[in-house]
Amino acid sequence: MLAYRLIERKRDGGRIEPGEWRALALAYASGYVPDYQMAALLMAAFLRGLDRGETSALTDAMLASGATLDLSHLPQPRIDKHSTGGVGDKVSLVLAPLVASLGIAVPMMSGRALGHTGGTLDKLESIPGFRTDLTLDEAKAQIERIGCVLIGQTSEIAPADRKLYALRDQTATIESIPLIAASIMSKKLAEGLSGLVLDIKRGSGAFLPELDRGVELAQTMIRLGQDRGCPVVCLLTAMDRPLGRACGNALEVEESIAALKGEGPPELLSLTYALGAEMLVLSGVAPSHDIARRWMEVSISSGKAAQKFQQIIEAQGGNPAVVDDPALLPQAEACEIYAAPRRGVVARVEPRAVGRGVIALGGGRRRIDESVDPSVGFVITARPGDVVEAGEPLATIFARDRAGIDEGQAALRQAIFITDEADPPLPLISHRVTAGGVEPYDGG
Ligand code: URA
Repeated sequence: MLAYRLIERKRDGGRIEPGEWRALALAYASGYVPDYQMAALLMAAFLRGLDRGETSALTDAMLASGATLDLSHLPQPRIDKHSTGGVGDKVSLVLAPLVASLGIAVPMMSGRALGHTGGTLDKLESIPGFRTDLTLDEAKAQIERIGCVLIGQTSEIAPADRKLYALRDQTATIESIPLIAASIMSKKLAEGLSGLVLDIKRGSGAFLPELDRGVELAQTMIRLGQDRGCPVVCLLTAMDRPLGRACGNALEVEESIAALKGEGPPELLSLTYALGAEMLVLSGVAPSHDIARRWMEVSISSGKAAQKFQQIIEAQGGNPAVVDDPALLPQAEACEIYAAPRRGVVARVEPRAVGRGVIALGGGRRRIDESVDPSVGFVITARPGDVVEAGEPLATIFARDRAGIDEGQAALRQAIFITDEADPPLPLISHRVTAGGVEPYDGG
């Protein structure tokens, strides 16, 4: 009866009070409210919106539906990064060990590939033996020991959000700013953070392609964090092209390892340094962005960052030798070059088409319960703005067999556009959003 009255009220443009959100989240997580009623309520919330107080109450209700990681006894600050996701976005794999090597505790909780976007957990699980399903107690012990853990949302954390997110995925109610903000922040706040850095993607391959929607999402999450003693800083970054060159799980781990040795693609390193500088300054560990950047460069050139990644891999049951020998990662059976069909300028490398291509090769998933092939994907060397000759190699396709190579060729024909002239791509980082407002990004 509670759910029926709340659906009716939200449908008619009314508001749901904090105590009602709490009761609803608990009742839904425990199975007392059926999916059909929750789906109706979500659609009413999607269409009518939630005001600031309701978004805040929903966040608290989902957070309170589960356990939290209490890390308040740690001497060092606890900072995480969250990205709204994209294609080729392997920043977490480089950033977490890098900033952990500089004395910040990083309890990083990530997701799986879904739709056209990749997922950090799938990338990590391409490392032989690597476990992402640690319990909260195991995660806590690892943070205490080595300062970083890379895990998935455990069944203990925000179970109401876990169920609601799966339902939203089936009912076309994902793209709602208050629902996204409450969902992400309920999980991030459960990590016991002292600060959070957000990477909100914009452009054709992003969840919310428009700049103004990205800014609204950033400001909503910043307020939710601020009100709960967790300062949040956000960078708005480009997803009108894949990030870096590798798209596909093991290929992205290999590129991340290269980046941890200072050899990764420039955009991957630039974005990692920008987000890392925000984490180090937000935590109070570094006095300025410039100094933070220099520390990160030294950690990479000295091998400290790569060693931290090895330590994390070993602690989570994986084979740390992959850092010295990436050939130990799963390797595709077949590979072939994709060549430019004509002379001209690379106008676009469309992330959604590339992501769909990775799924067609078996490296992504259409439903959350599908398994992925870690070895397949693309390494795309062509960047928007490049001038290319007919027949010039633009990418390499990694597949299981000949049929996969053909799928890959077809996908890249839909993804890489060569024209006579091209507009410039989006700047890699366009804006910085804090509690103080929105400013154009000037390098930190
Ligand atoms: N990621 C989440 O965790 N929740 C959302 O609602 C969207 C993206």
